[in-house]
Amino acid sequence: MQAVFDGHNDVLLRLWTHMREGSDPIAEFAEGTAAGHIDGPRARAGGLAGGLCAIYVPSGDLVFADPDFRGHYATPLAAPLERSPSLDIALEMAAIALRLDRAGAWRLCRSTRDIRRAMDSGIFAAVMHIEGCEAIDPDLAALETFHAAGLRSLGPVWSRNNVFGHGVPFAYPMTPDTGPGLTEAGFALVRECNRLGILIDLAHITEKGFWDVAKTTDQPLVASHSNAHALTPVARNLTDRQLDAIRESNGLVGVNYATAMLRADGRSDAATPLEDMIRHIDYLVERIGIDHVALGSDFDGATIPEEIGDAAGNQKLIAALKSVGYGDADLTKLARENWLRILASAWRENVAGAA
Ligand SMILES: [Zn+2]
Repeated sequence: MQAVFDGHNDVLLRLWTHMREGSDPIAEFAEGTAAGHIDGPRARAGGLAGGLCAIYVPSGDLVFADPDFRGHYATPLAAPLERSPSLDIALEMAAIALRLDRAGAWRLCRSTRDIRRAMDSGIFAAVMHIEGCEAIDPDLAALETFHAAGLRSLGPVWSRNNVFGHGVPFAYPMTPDTGPGLTEAGFALVRECNRLGILIDLAHITEKGFWDVAKTTDQPLVASHSNAHALTPVARNLTDRQLDAIRESNGLVGVNYATAMLRADGRSDAATPLEDMIRHIDYLVERIGIDHVALGSDFDGATIPEEIGDAAGNQKLIAALKSVGYGDADLTKLARENWLRILASAWRENVAGAA
């Protein structure tokens, strides 16, 4: 079995949603559930050894637009969120992450050493990520606090606008060049993340925002859960120019299992064959090289191919890649080592004198 460290999941959102309905998030994760995609037993069954676990404040009013007869759709951006309730929700999700760690249900990892130790001992290696910084104030006091609580990765924006920048809408076909990029506060956020050792994730940001981060950050460029725009022209996917910049920065793309971002017709449909995933992975590997492609499933956040189903089916993708000729060395990079290289860099583990 090829242990997978995955760049994006929404299990904290699911656990938080169920907690509000009265269920115990620790039992749900540790003992397992039929709901959603990830829990401890299913992760172990599918060799999902760990991943970036998003704190995401939901846009309750977001309604996805129906596709027209050609399959085209354009969902308007979700409305901006107020900071105060967003902060409450983010704190509740961070608390779930910390309580899962305290209960021994997963390990909340702050270094790649933590991740490797957790993987070696068969415990899920979770990394705290924030997807859209509505909970963070422009003075970055909350950033400092979340970092102390274990935050090691963030995307400045989700698919909506906030004080730090502008997100791309869910739309097909659509360029990712849909609006402005970072604000002044967004540039300051990137610089502070570089200083603290927090990974910057470019998923969900406009193309302009992508270039704003590229010219500001001192780190490799990373899109944790995005695919190739040339194959599936949704605004959330990356153009060839963006992919080339990721390669040149020694960065990484985590392949998203979301069927709407994999299929040529842009539809969200669980009856999507693994061939569509392999098509994107082949394209990315061809364009930017095996060292720059990894996985970013979006488990618990998207409609994924039914052949995979949930975390327990994760090895089916690995087996499919093997069957089309990917060797063990390449699969090891794709499954985990590329992510570990990027995290070690973002977390400044290779800098002399760093902790
Ligand atoms: Zn996302």
